[in-house]
Amino acid sequence: MTQLQRPTPSHAPMRQFPVEKGEILVGGVALTRLTARVGQTPFYAYDRDLLTRRVAALRAALPPVLKLHYAMKANPMPALVGHMARLVDGIDVASGGELKIALDAGAKPRETSFAGPGKQRAEMQQAVAAGILINIESFREVRELASISEQTGNRARIAVRVNPDFELKSSGMRMGGGAKQFGVDAEQVPELLAEIGRLGLGFEGFHLFAGSQNLKPEAIVEAQSKSYELALRLAEAAPSPVRFLNLGGGFGIPYFPGEQPLDLAPIGAGLASIVDRASRQLPEAELVLELGRYLVGEAGIYVTRIVDRKISRGHCYLITDGGLHHHLSASGNFGQVIRKNYPVAIGNRMASSEQETVSVVGPLCTPLDLLADRMELATAEVGDLVVIFQSGAYGFTASPQAFLGHPACAEVLV
Ligand SMILES: *Cc1c(COP(=O)(O)O)cnc(C)c1O
Repeated sequence: MTQLQRPTPSHAPMRQFPVEKGEILVGGVALTRLTARVGQTPFYAYDRDLLTRRVAALRAALPPVLKLHYAMKANPMPALVGHMARLVDGIDVASGGELKIALDAGAKPRETSFAGPGKQRAEMQQAVAAGILINIESFREVRELASISEQTGNRARIAVRVNPDFELKSSGMRMGGGAKQFGVDAEQVPELLAEIGRLGLGFEGFHLFAGSQNLKPEAIVEAQSKSYELALRLAEAAPSPVRFLNLGGGFGIPYFPGEQPLDLAPIGAGLASIVDRASRQLPEAELVLELGRYLVGEAGIYVTRIVDRKISRGHCYLITDGGLHHHLSASGNFGQVIRKNYPVAIGNRMASSEQETVSVVGPLCTPLDLLADRMELATAEVGDLVVIFQSGAYGFTASPQAFLGHPACAEVLV
């Protein structure tokens, strides 16, 4: 009798960074040389050229009239936002602080939008003065914006963020459907639109964002098509024509063993059909996708140096100068249900044939400070550089850097 054996799933190959003389190159610079240039470990490094190529590849797969926005909370490093602002059509911000970085980076106010629950009056005042589009998340925000417009004489530009009556299937993080703190429930939107009309605010469209880190094209196509249908229905109650329809995004990247890169072909086809319908049904609407992780996640690595190597009861630990305080998501503590390893390599020993099974840990006094759990890596020594791939999004600013008082992490765009 034969037994069906499932092969152990492995990480998708990380081919975006070339290897030369056994070292990973970032922006054409060998890792040890880059480390010397940065002047410290740990650091994050983002590759300009990979960012540029990612946006170009995405545009090639999507209908040309579709607008592409960068949701900068994925990576708000000012130099990176500046680079992205030149590549995409608009920037989506989630706070007054991000708004400043976006405008400094040269984002065009007409194509900048602001979403997020609990917007404070001061942030909304900044947004109205800047002339950006504000995605409304509650009745309170509408009243507050009406009062700001009246006070300042600047008319608020608003879109309604809708909490849809469906959920994004297979999403790493669900942010729409059911009871949510995000957006206004679809059922309440007609009443909100009536209020927007009564208050004379500048209604410009709808924003739907169903979730994040989705690797199933069918689920994304379905969510986008349902989002379009819902927006079309709600548009009947709108005080003026829809000029922006933001269909969200949520495109995922492969992090864990067994995950594959997202197939864009079905998504492009689904969007082509939406674009075609919209040209007749919502002729004044600009269709927008907003993506964070997908645009920047694969273009970044986290680099940390091995400071100690020890064997505990037969198991080898590589202890590094970086850890969960710089890279919470690689440690498995940023929304993962079951901890899995990110793709990891010894970045200055890429040609090594000697391998061993090790755990890579950080310097924090907590067992949660784990960067790689029992992984097969090139045999490494103190001084070698551990590289964590897929680190361009939700890394640096999504980590509790002050925890345990270790030195700050650096960031470079190469
Ligand atoms: C976080 C967020 C995004 C970006 O999500 P990614 O998964 O990084 O693409 C886009 N839109 C909104 C409203 C968000 O909150």
